[in-house]
Amino acid sequence: VDATAAVDPDVARSILRELSDQRSNVKLIASENFCSPAVQAAHANLLTDKYAEGYPGHRFYAGCDNVDDIESRAAAAARELFGAEHAYVQPHSGADANLVAYLAVLASRVEAPALAELGEKNPANLSAEDWENLRRATTGQRLLGMDLYSGGHLTHGYRHNISSRLFEAHSYSVDPRTGLLDLDHVRARAREVRPAVLLAGYSAYPRAIDFAAFREIADEVGATFMVDMAHFAGLVAGKALVGDHDPVAHADIVTSTTHKTLRGPRGGLVLTGGELADAVDKGCPMVLGGPLSHAMAAKAVAFREALRPEFRSYAAAVVDNARTLADQLARRGGVIVTGGTDNHLVLLDVWASFGLTGRQAESVLRECGLTVNRNALPGDPHGPWYTSGLRLGTPAVTTLGMGHDEIGEIAELVCVALAAAQPRTTSTSVSKANYDLRDEVRAAVRSRVRDLL
Ligand code: PLP
Repeated sequence: VDATAAVDPDVARSILRELSDQRSNVKLIASENFCSPAVQAAHANLLTDKYAEGYPGHRFYAGCDNVDDIESRAAAAARELFGAEHAYVQPHSGADANLVAYLAVLASRVEAPALAELGEKNPANLSAEDWENLRRATTGQRLLGMDLYSGGHLTHGYRHNISSRLFEAHSYSVDPRTGLLDLDHVRARAREVRPAVLLAGYSAYPRAIDFAAFREIADEVGATFMVDMAHFAGLVAGKALVGDHDPVAHADIVTSTTHKTLRGPRGGLVLTGGELADAVDKGCPMVLGGPLSHAMAAKAVAFREALRPEFRSYAAAVVDNARTLADQLARRGGVIVTGGTDNHLVLLDVWASFGLTGRQAESVLRECGLTVNRNALPGDPHGPWYTSGLRLGTPAVTTLGMGHDEIGEIAELVCVALAAAQPRTTSTSVSKANYDLRDEVRAAVRSRVRDLL
């Protein structure tokens, strides 16, 4: 960071502090990981200076040969990794990938047939009146995804997100008693709503999803079946989720981030096949501007890493560690939503277990050197800001090589710290992040955290 420090020492200092932060706290955030030096080197370089709107072999700029090569290699590696017919590696994030997918579905389901009727292929050539009719036809299509409180993502139709403006957004929920997906409920909602897009794949659902059953429901109601595997893509790549639990084998279109369990650079990915492929490749201009050439290079490297046999061992260990974490927390009195996990994350009901809100529990653990994030639970009485839950994930600690013993120690430290924290009931609301934690507890847990790293 010397070159950065010469221009902006404060930014350089923050980068170094972040390094020290990530080295001195146990990272249990389910959506984070540590990507390799090879990925970081491919990401942080002069490729950031190159514009390349379009796609390989079809660019709106000169001098794109090297970016063509990089993008093609990234897409080929993604296809091989996931067994997909087509891969689009330009989205800058998971949210972008979802927007590209939504617009591609609307283009192929609604726009293409309407254009064919008008005898035109390119919307840019339509008269103002025909264009307005086409635009109207693509608005008000229905999206059916999981609600935010049940573990869905903001981009799955949340009111404050553009997805609820692109679509008439509807939702299904998990069973409020068990926290589990109820496919009969999903089917009933799909029959009622008759969505254009049926969406599965979530941010905070700890169980394997039966994508084959979702496929049947989508077929019954004539929906395009989309899966957002942002969280568990690394487990799909590493063959820890296979058969009915492999979304690529069952969905029409699959979106992902590349930086969570998949352990690549921050970015997005869309996988598809058939007629949706052409529409997806128009991510620019539909949503995106110029692709991030350096990010695509880093994705190519990450996908190559994920094709190595070691990545399968990593994926299996992520799940194994999450199961151990759930068991060990439960043995110490932790109430685990759904009773366990099949993937990389564990939802701990800290309100039921320790009488703390998620916000309090998050702060307590952070003070002790354990970085987690609070998470709303199904039907959460404390709302999405304070919450009643924590989401704990094992990808980053697994990348560090931790196994059963270390995970047992982490569970012990989480429970020791949370059991010791006293919410201040004299304050106006127990929901606020105020609590007392004795100095000796904080110091003792911090010291044991240091021994883990
Ligand atoms: N989809 C899901 C299921 C996610 O959990 C997330 C991020 O947490 C996203 C999409 C958005 O990804 P990004 O933050 O890269 O935009």
